[in-house]
Amino acid sequence: MSEETIFGKILRGKIPCEEVYSDSECIAFRDVQPQAPTHILVIPRKPLASLKEASEKDSKLLGHLLLVSSKVAKAEGLQDWRTVINTGSAAGQTVFHLHLHILGGRKLDWPPG
Ligand code: AMP
Repeated sequence: MSEETIFGKILRGKIPCEEVYSDSECIAFRDVQPQAPTHILVIPRKPLASLKEASEKDSKLLGHLLLVSSKVAKAEGLQDWRTVINTGSAAGQTVFHLHLHILGGRKLDWPPG
């Protein structure tokens, strides 16, 4: 990625965040503009701009991110939740560093807007 994103800055400790989980591959922190009572983002340390840039060699990492999102959701006490990956601006992606949203703590409608 050419320019460092806000999540890149969070990873480098240049911008603070409310971290809830961290390991060698990823971190999870609370979204600053929560769309549900629980709204957490899981991001890889690897600077992938979006799911579009992921390839076969990222299979293990992608699986890890999903499992971490589940672990974090359960640790938050959620029984049901939604995991969202917005890919591309028309799909609502605003930060071009791959991230999984974990949303829960309220009834979530379907389809999303
Ligand atoms: P997306 O629209 O899928 O790219 O999601 C980006 C998310 O990042 C939004 O839900 C924002 O509220 C969230 N966000 C932006 N800046 C920060 C920040 N500094 N700390 C935590 N969350 C942020």
